[in-house]
Amino acid sequence: MDIPRDADGLAHIVALSGGKDSTALALRLAEVEPRNYLFVCTPTGDELPEMIDHWLELGQRLGRRILPVTSGKTLDSLIDDFNALPNNRMRWCTRILKIEPYYRWLAQVAPAISYVGLRADEGDRAGMEFPASNSVSVRFPLREWGWGESDVWNYLDALGVTIPARTDCARCYHQTLGEWWRLWHDSPGIYDSAVAQESAVSESRGKPCTFRNKSRDTWPAALADLRREFESGRVPPNTVRTDDLFAGGRRGICRVCSL
Ligand code: SF4
Repeated sequence: MDIPRDADGLAHIVALSGGKDSTALALRLAEVEPRNYLFVCTPTGDELPEMIDHWLELGQRLGRRILPVTSGKTLDSLIDDFNALPNNRMRWCTRILKIEPYYRWLAQVAPAISYVGLRADEGDRAGMEFPASNSVSVRFPLREWGWGESDVWNYLDALGVTIPARTDCARCYHQTLGEWWRLWHDSPGIYDSAVAQESAVSESRGKPCTFRNKSRDTWPAALADLRREFESGRVPPNTVRTDDLFAGGRRGICRVCSL
């Protein structure tokens, strides 16, 4: 595709995780520094439908399609390739599906400025760093504007923009027990396929392999066993139903990925 560039030959790239910070960043940048931005996302192929809808709606608000940057792989295909499930000890998914493809692509479209949605109130988080030879520089406009979390929410609320309950993968190993319950309740087909993946990987490796870390809580680690608990009517404490979340107007974000 033709990469839009300014008079100096620079491409202006905004990566959209779909979370509140990058969403606010993209919309506000388009208002206060209008230019021919290229908005990109790094899908893993395991997003929930509301996440895909959010990217589509955001593209409409921004007046341009959000370009997916991928490795050509999905979370599913990597599980097959590696015959392994991502988990806290084997966190290859973010690197292979998001970070490396985005860095590779950014190096190809350089010279460029990459706009990153880190807020002023999260000063301890580092941004992405590129070798100087890549001719990629990074800007943090939310920090330049002094925007913290409440500024981001106020801005989105004023625009009437909502953020999906989940912007991470449907079967992300890092999700909470309550989010597994919601996946089972609202997206049983995805839950069932995650059960099948646990079963296939465990069988071929000859040992139990699960998305969930068994030391995280006292509930069963294996999704098949967890499903039996859910089916018996047991609901994890503090589980918020999807409709309650929507009524509250606040959305969670992936705690692992920033792209
Ligand atoms: S959301 Fe979770 S499963 Fe998906 S790439 Fe990030 S860490 Fe991996």
